[in-house]
Amino acid sequence: MNIELSIEFFPPQTAEGLVKLKNERLKLAVLKPDFFSVTYGAGGSTRGRTFAIVKEIAAEGFDAVPHLSCVGSTRVGIREMLGEFKAIGVRRIVALRGDLPSGMAEAGELRYANELVEFIRAETGNVFQVIVAAYPEWHPQAKSPEVDLNNFVRKAKAGVNAAITQYFYNADAYFHFVERVRSTGVEIPIIPGIMPIANFYKLARFSDACGTDIPRWIRRQFESYGDDVESIRAFGLEIVTRLCERLLQGGAPGLHFYSMNQASLILEIQQRLNLRMKPVTPAQ
Ligand code: FAD
Repeated sequence: MNIELSIEFFPPQTAEGLVKLKNERLKLAVLKPDFFSVTYGAGGSTRGRTFAIVKEIAAEGFDAVPHLSCVGSTRVGIREMLGEFKAIGVRRIVALRGDLPSGMAEAGELRYANELVEFIRAETGNVFQVIVAAYPEWHPQAKSPEVDLNNFVRKAKAGVNAAITQYFYNADAYFHFVERVRSTGVEIPIIPGIMPIANFYKLARFSDACGTDIPRWIRRQFESYGDDVESIRAFGLEIVTRLCERLLQGGAPGLHFYSMNQASLILEIQQRLNLRMKPVTPAQ
């Protein structure tokens, strides 16, 4: 599966958020992404909202890709969702385990993403292309890198077409992960997930929870800006553009942007990348 550029949204909770999302999406459409994806709350908490946005994106003529998580769900519920997605012409799905929301005790009938992938294949054959999550800095609950790698490989072999990574700021972690996956014979495209930096302090908290390392030199530089929003934005843009450039030059097959429902940083990064990665015409 070829994915050069894809962009992820989350389903907003308010009517105002929905209008804003549509505006941002239309701005991003100029980039002609391969698809827009929409996240899915674990336990089906955003089921209706995810479906409505996927439908709206598809109606606008874009390739709309729902995420689907299995934790806290039943086979019957997932079968229904697959049927609904198929009926509106969805061709790809991002299949995830998800994280059980606090207070929800039941893990559900499918415990890990590899079981969800197997279920999707058993129920729908090759109707959908299936994309899964990957963790270059390893999943925070993994017992060891080896165990996590083996779990990823098992999932990939269950009938997966591509993987998108958790966001990261260490390009070497990505290259190392890809190398380890390739050494097992798994050849699916592994698309780096890119998180533009809008609010460093929020990002730092979130990164601790999801196991993403923000290198010390980057952290220290952001911290030195205090609440100088302009400098934070400028440094964040520089860091992320350089990361994307390095990834693409090192052979990453494409980029998947976590948009946080905001277009401006992605548009700016893409513009800079286009300038920097233009082939140089030799002097006459
Ligand atoms: P898995 O692949 O099941 O792995 C989870 C953990 O279990 C890992 O530690 C793994 O090593 C271990 N493991 C895997 N298989 C087995 C097995 N068979 N036996 C024992 N251990 C096993 N979350 C949402 O709720 N909604 C979203 O829309 C969403 N979208 C995401 C998109 C991307 C690109 C990424 C990277 C993450 C997304 N997440 C989303 C977050 C994701 O749900 C969490 O990171 C979750 O903790 C793991 O999901 P997974 O599909 O990677 O799980």
